[in-house]
Amino acid sequence: MLLKLKKILLIGSSSEIQTLRELMSDSYEFINSNSTDELLENWNSIFKEVNAVIMDSTQATLNDHAFLKQSAEIGRFAFIPLLIIADSPQNDAELKCLDYDVVDFITMPFQKITIKNRIENAIHIKDSASFYEIERMLKELPSNIYLKDADGKYIFATHYWHHLDHSNDPDWTIRGKTDIEIRKDKENAKMAMEKDMEVIRSGKGEHYVIEINVGNIQEFFEVFKEPVKDHNGNITGIIGLLNNVTEHELLKQQLKTAASIDGLTGLYNRKEIQSRIDNAVENCHKNGGTLSLLMLDIDNFKQVNDSYGHKQGDIVIVSLANILKNNQPYFKGKFSAGRWGGEEFMLLLHDTEISAAAYIAELIRQCFANIIFPNMRSQTISLGVTQLKQGDTSDSLCIRVDDGLYQAKKTGKNRVHII
Ligand code: GH3
Ligand code: MG
Ligand code: MG
Repeated sequence: MLLKLKKILLIGSSSEIQTLRELMSDSYEFINSNSTDELLENWNSIFKEVNAVIMDSTQATLNDHAFLKQSAEIGRFAFIPLLIIADSPQNDAELKCLDYDVVDFITMPFQKITIKNRIENAIHIKDSASFYEIERMLKELPSNIYLKDADGKYIFATHYWHHLDHSNDPDWTIRGKTDIEIRKDKENAKMAMEKDMEVIRSGKGEHYVIEINVGNIQEFFEVFKEPVKDHNGNITGIIGLLNNVTEHELLKQQLKTAASIDGLTGLYNRKEIQSRIDNAVENCHKNGGTLSLLMLDIDNFKQVNDSYGHKQGDIVIVSLANILKNNQPYFKGKFSAGRWGGEEFMLLLHDTEISAAAYIAELIRQCFANIIFPNMRSQTISLGVTQLKQGDTSDSLCIRVDDGLYQAKKTGKNRVHII
């Protein structure tokens, strides 16, 4: 395969230019321009293809360095190295070239190996400068972009966020430090290091969301990590991207909560309480423990709606829900209350024997019966109470408590039926 040579633009017609061209003809592909005017005319096409520009000092010093001044001003050589060559010794005007955007000043006699080295270094310096330029531009983005080496040590980060524990010294740098050394949120830092090592080991990227709580601020960050490889494909580090997704995550949480809550009463909705009953039953069978379930239904509720209107009916429903919400101290342990249907509710009591559950049911019944509604007579509820038995499924438990409620209704309402 024919190796593609780097392209160098030579400006000028001095003997140094000719010498350099002949000496280095097997190392570079040269194109020539006799004057800076010609260069300016063709700059757009030249810019795309040359790796370096070498100019003789006669051209560079012309009209009091007019070309260099103008080039430096508009950053023409920001990405391409400009080198000057001259016969020695140099005069002041020649040396003044270095005041402008000139990377190197090469004088005769030319030695092939050092010239090659200096041209290559000049190209490399500009490449590195482009890297710092890019880093500077990346800082303008709200994302935090960082680079770490294969030991998880930072090479750079575009932002130093408030999760870092570092001095106010303006010269403080993240370079060479690990997450564990510099982050306030040590648990997340440990996880970050583990994920880094996983990326290094597997060569596969990671994408996850972390929650950070530092100084009473709750924040969520979306993290992307990808391995960085050298030209031989060896993993040499990690490039990371961090976005603050707090607003998005909180909205997601709100939506999730809203999807599990009943709009009228603020208790869990049917789907959520059903799922909690399912989980509790499964958990009890697996790990042991007791579980009781109460089902509540307002007595003769159709009459409430018929006599006082739907709005008043709603007030009665909410009043019963509030008893379930506000009597937590009586429920002792963990519980979940949900709206099962129109004016039917379920109360799930963890670690509660049937006797205690029956006592709670009776308390709720009395409490509700004692509510005085404005312009409305008092109301009552009936309750079924049952306890999880061996061999029960979530369905059989719900069917039995419903049966208990049915018995309470059948035997006169405004009562608790244990089943
Ligand atoms: P029982 O003592 O046997 O329970 O008699 P009931 O009249 O209470 O009968 P049932 O439980 O079947 O009645 C439920 C009624 O609840 C029917 C429906 O119109 C009413 N309802 C259901 N959801 C709502 C609601 O959100 N608001 C109001 N105001 N009424 C509702
Ligand atoms: Mg009813
Ligand atoms: Mg009902």
